[in-house]
Amino acid sequence: MEEGLENFVPLIKRSRGYEELEKDVIDSGICSGCGACAAFCDRVGLTEDGSVPASECNMTLGAVKCNIDGICYDCCPHVSYSWGGLEDEVFGARREDELLGQYLKAFAVRSKDKEVLKNAQDGGAATSLLLAAVNEGFSDAAVVTGRDDSWSVDSTASKDKKEITGGAGTKYARAPGILKLGENLRKIPRLAIVGTGCQIAGTRRLEKKFLSSVPKAELTLIGLFCYENFPYTRLKEIIEDRLGLKMEDVTKTDITKGKLHVWTKDGKKHEKAVKEFADLAPESCVICRDFTATFSDITCGSIGSDEGWTTVIVRSQRGMDLLNAAKEKGYIEISDKVDLEAVKKTGGFKGKKRAKVLSEREKEGKFVPDYS
Ligand SMILES: Cc1cc2nc3c(=O)[nH]c(=O)nc-3n(C[C@H](O)[C@H](O)[C@H](O)COP(=O)(O)OP(=O)(O)OC[C@H]3O[C@@H](n4cnc5c(N)ncnc54)[C@H](O)[C@@H]3O)c2cc1C
Repeated sequence: MEEGLENFVPLIKRSRGYEELEKDVIDSGICSGCGACAAFCDRVGLTEDGSVPASECNMTLGAVKCNIDGICYDCCPHVSYSWGGLEDEVFGARREDELLGQYLKAFAVRSKDKEVLKNAQDGGAATSLLLAAVNEGFSDAAVVTGRDDSWSVDSTASKDKKEITGGAGTKYARAPGILKLGENLRKIPRLAIVGTGCQIAGTRRLEKKFLSSVPKAELTLIGLFCYENFPYTRLKEIIEDRLGLKMEDVTKTDITKGKLHVWTKDGKKHEKAVKEFADLAPESCVICRDFTATFSDITCGSIGSDEGWTTVIVRSQRGMDLLNAAKEKGYIEISDKVDLEAVKKTGGFKGKKRAKVLSEREKEGKFVPDYS
């Protein structure tokens, strides 16, 4: 084991613990299944549909019986915490734009690797940045989300080009990438992780509250724009029951411009308006304010650049160094042709529904997170 990683020393002296996490987030329906709460605790688990049952958690409010002092509550991205405070810690600066978050510069990016482009969702920027992170000294492995024939997802930490490239492409199913963070970091302290806004925010909270005592732990976080993501069973319901397709026949999925597009092995393309499965959108996604994964080092998204390119928002110096290295070493090409207004517009669509659901929650006395 790497020196310094034998014990993850708890820094948190006061925490609300699992009972409160259950009350505020899980039972009130806003757990997104990001897995951060379970990343370092054997007593918290994650089911396929994202709920988080505790087995024998003995930490009660105010009592510090938990081995790791209630990390589960303190790293959850859905409880109240100061976004500004976390930004100060991560970037040393605060966002000027609520939706885009703190950033240095935005670009359109396309991979120069044919194999990456073949598997990629958009321009393959996310995969090429992961490959550059691993090969150019930023990280020792990358955590990617792969899938099987039935689109069931799993996350692996790998340094193998084939595995990282094989993980390219968007899966609209919740993936357990953060769940395995503790296990992965014990073996590989320098990790590049790609994930949606909740996964990135949860990881950042873990990093700043917990991993600062582990000098060798070093994270490079690549975020993804995310309007919504589904527990696997709901994705299956959309594809099989509402579109009448077999999961095994699907080759690609994409949600864009208000429609779900599904490509199948017979070469056909199928579509369904997002509003036709709005009832299956998890409440955690409906109330999410972090469309652009604002706590990442670099965020990648589809909207805002031409087809075949990825919109890339660089937030930290680490992110800028990685982008520059990827460009200089020939992994990617970069253009300035990026439309951040389009990104803001798409992210803004969430606003109305979110406000309605939050006000309903308030009336019902349910927990409403406060990020001020
Ligand atoms: C659930 C979800 C919803 C999204 N919604 C939007 C949206 O509304 N608007 C928009 O513009 N863009 C959205 N995106 C981002 C977009 O689909 C692409 O992922 C992004 O543009 C990067 O493209 P790329 O070709 O550079 O990535 P690629 O090179 O194809 O790499 C994609 C990376 O994402 C990882 N990944 C795939 N699925 C998941 C998952 N479920 N959880 C965690 N990691 C995963 C893969 O492991 C891979 O490393 C969404 C992504 C996801 C995962």
